[in-house]
Amino acid sequence: MIIVGAGPAGLTLATELRLVGVKPLVLDRLTEIREVAKAGGIGGQILNLLRYRELRDLLDDAAGAPVTAKLPFGGIHVDLTELGESPMQVQRLPQPQLEALLQNHVRGLGVEVRRGHEVTGLQQDDDAVHLEVQGPDGAYRVSAQYVVGCDGVRSRVRELAGVAFPGITYPEIHRLATVSMPPEITVRDDGDYDIPGYGRLAWGYSQTPGGIFAIASSEPGQLGLYTSEPPDREYDDDIPLTLNEFRDSVHRVLGTDIPLGEPRRLTRFTYAARHTERYVAGRVLLAGDAAHQIPTGGVAVSAGMLDGVNLAWKLAATIQGWAPAGLLDTYHSERHLAGDRLLLHAQAQVALRRGHDPANDALRKVFSELVSDAPALARVGAMIAASDVRYPMTGTQPHALAGTFASHVPDDVVAPLRAARPVFVGPPELCDVAAPWRDRVTILNHPAEALLIRPDAHIAWAGATDTGLQEALAHWFGDPR
Ligand SMILES: Cc1cc2nc3c(=O)[nH]c(=O)nc-3n(C[C@H](O)[C@H](O)[C@H](O)COP(=O)(O)OP(=O)(O)OC[C@H]3O[C@@H](n4cnc5c(N)ncnc54)[C@H](O)[C@@H]3O)c2cc1C
Repeated sequence: MIIVGAGPAGLTLATELRLVGVKPLVLDRLTEIREVAKAGGIGGQILNLLRYRELRDLLDDAAGAPVTAKLPFGGIHVDLTELGESPMQVQRLPQPQLEALLQNHVRGLGVEVRRGHEVTGLQQDDDAVHLEVQGPDGAYRVSAQYVVGCDGVRSRVRELAGVAFPGITYPEIHRLATVSMPPEITVRDDGDYDIPGYGRLAWGYSQTPGGIFAIASSEPGQLGLYTSEPPDREYDDDIPLTLNEFRDSVHRVLGTDIPLGEPRRLTRFTYAARHTERYVAGRVLLAGDAAHQIPTGGVAVSAGMLDGVNLAWKLAATIQGWAPAGLLDTYHSERHLAGDRLLLHAQAQVALRRGHDPANDALRKVFSELVSDAPALARVGAMIAASDVRYPMTGTQPHALAGTFASHVPDDVVAPLRAARPVFVGPPELCDVAAPWRDRVTILNHPAEALLIRPDAHIAWAGATDTGLQEALAHWFGDPR
């Protein structure tokens, strides 16, 4: 099978496919990973999931342990450090470094990542997908049983497969700059900034009559600055943001000039909320930004990685010939549900961020007041983390755990999950019921309540008796041999 796009979604999918015995070919049109400022790290549910994967050790080595942080939610800070146990942790690793780590990892697993190879055409029939590719040595054709488009927001694969990407693009223009810390700016003991010509400026996001301004220092000696404002004038997306354009934007938003150091990174972008109509279109599948465009920072990379984890074992089962009917379609139903939930809170963030009349200010005040209560804060944290997503499972009355993520498992369950193998854990009489699936499901004798856990660490079935167990095993792992 072929993955188009070696971004975080495509490379995570490739890693997961190797775990379950499939060796994909990865094609990317760029000759090298681009050193542009995009995501600063990953967080939430993907970190929980990676506790069950070797990749987590590599990420911890590169980025250090995940931390709980104050996070922006529509230009308001939600301080998850206030919670005893936060549902949302973040691991800081700039996107180019994350991609380099993932690329080295998959190449080490024997995956061929062809860079400088752009997909320009696609046809599919009953047996295969045929791609036209422009490579460094000219054009060629390559075919595969399945193709996954992980080729970003402007996905050529999605377009060529004729899949709609409905939604809305918001007009506000966002600009990000990382500059060296100007000597005139001082950081106060409480983390706020003293800025000559402006005075005290709060760390994080500030609403101003001109838009939104944000300031933070994530690395020593550097200053991160951000503006968001209504469209001032047309700009050409192909012309990179300059320091002068950024300075003008700061002036409009803050009403004054502030000292800016040497620019390290400058980016301009707009937000859109779009969701693919279909994650599965015959033999063509979509993952990552190709499937969903999220109008907020901090969550999109993790969502694309979770797409890869959800898809890999289902695709492998289909290619290896043991997938029960409809298994691959659950990739659409589950990830579309998760994407809808993501877009729900991201679009609520757009509403919180926009506008400067008294009604908008009142909305922000009410929201800030609500998240000062721990239960509401935990709920918002779980939404951002995507840890509140519950997939639909079999049975007329599924157990409360069915469809949820298996966050607490007995120690001996971890090893099979690290190999992305499904696990049944339960007392001996229920192990006997699961025994016919032994070649596909690791069966562990345990006196506690029984659980059937899928390779993506979601609970497919839970119970104290065997009611619905065989149905769940057959639904996810096919007929017993
Ligand atoms: C300024 C900015 C800030 C951001 N901040 C955050 C953040 O804080 N947190 C967060 O989670 N996300 C953030 N994002 C979003 C994040 O960068 C994306 O969600 C993420 O890159 C999506 O990963 P992906 O693998 O789906 O797609 P991409 O990273 O877009 O990768 C797609 C790959 O496909 C390749 N490709 C495209 N077309 C073809 C073709 N025809 N043939 C072959 N290859 C092709 C591209 O070269 C690319 O390598 C930010 C984005 C921007 C622009």
